[in-house]
Amino acid sequence: MSQSILALNAGSSSVKFALYDLGSSDGQLLVSRGTLDLGDAPRLTARAADGTVQCDRQFTADAPHGAGIAEILRLVKGELGGRKLICIGHRIVHGGNKFSKPVRLTPATIEALERLTTLAPLHQPRSLAPVRAIAALQPDLPQVGCFDTAFHHTIDPLVRRFALPQKYEREGLRRYGFHGLSYEYIAGRLSEISPALAAKRTIVAHLGNGASLCAVREGKSVDTTMGFSALDGLVMGTRCGAIDPGVLLYFLLERGMAADELQTMLYERSGLLGVSGISGDMRMLEASSDPRAREAIELFAFRAAREAAALANTMGGFECLVFTAGIGERSSSIRKSMCEKLTWLGVALDELANDAHAEIVSRPDSKVEVRVIATDEESVIARHSRAVMQVGSAT
Ligand code: ADP
Repeated sequence: MSQSILALNAGSSSVKFALYDLGSSDGQLLVSRGTLDLGDAPRLTARAADGTVQCDRQFTADAPHGAGIAEILRLVKGELGGRKLICIGHRIVHGGNKFSKPVRLTPATIEALERLTTLAPLHQPRSLAPVRAIAALQPDLPQVGCFDTAFHHTIDPLVRRFALPQKYEREGLRRYGFHGLSYEYIAGRLSEISPALAAKRTIVAHLGNGASLCAVREGKSVDTTMGFSALDGLVMGTRCGAIDPGVLLYFLLERGMAADELQTMLYERSGLLGVSGISGDMRMLEASSDPRAREAIELFAFRAAREAAALANTMGGFECLVFTAGIGERSSSIRKSMCEKLTWLGVALDELANDAHAEIVSRPDSKVEVRVIATDEESVIARHSRAVMQVGSAT
């Protein structure tokens, strides 16, 4: 009986999933891919690898997250055919200092990961909710955790450091970085597409609802824009990105804002949504003629280019720029706007190629090759999960 692995990628408003057949070699074959949308009208959609729609239905549930995971499991089991599901792999947002590699999710590791919730109060519970739901539904099914922070363990201690008193650094107050599974995928794809380029210096722009940049040298992360939390760096859909810490003190001390109110504002009411007052969704802003939508888009591109220049400085230059995730893969105008601001660093955009969403969107004479690569975090999760299952627990 052939074996299969289910990869789950739980985000703030959706759970993406992908089922892989492991076959007999080291490779993995996509069987089916889907999304559980946890918005106002929860919806489960899935397509087979050939694009055939396998499922597209709404469902109502008091607790859409738990009920949704049960729905995904039911759907996947229906698609297993003669395959045996050997494990479920998860994207876990925070691995802290301890988890630098994927691990088997045992009661002990889950407890250790729960303790990291203080480092990612909104994201870590979302990562662990499906793990707990599956452990309750099917306690014998092995689960593996793959960490968004792990790819950044190669970052130099100096680059990680905050200029705070030593004792806080020892307590783990440092920059961790996120979106690591996406960056790992892009670094791997780049080395397949262009080994020569992958051996040099690349800035990867993961521009989705959450957005960050990563400086990758010889396939390894050397700097990134997210820090201690997933709030830092770029302007995002609803998150503020880098902000003067004095602003936070002002809200707390001068305006008497409660800490949880401040947290909600910074994570959920700021960014594109806060600036535009319309939406945190780039597609909606690009379709709007409202000047506030334009201001939000311009701020997004300005700040992203500014941070890209800072990462270029960490590496002493760069030869490649990769755009990925929802905005990076699909918004030619954001790519154009960012690239124009990076002209002085050797970026020369080919506008026709960019409008056509070509693989390479820079001109042949550009000092920096600009590429668009679709990310695939689920395939990285499946690959790591397989490795953990074959070698046993890596804790
Ligand atoms: P998540 O971080 O939730 O995985 P995605 O990578 O799916 O997010 O990216 C979502 C973002 O991509 C949203 O802001 C969405 O509006 C934007 N987006 C998707 N398609 C387009 C498009 N064609 N043009 C501009 N923005 C787009």
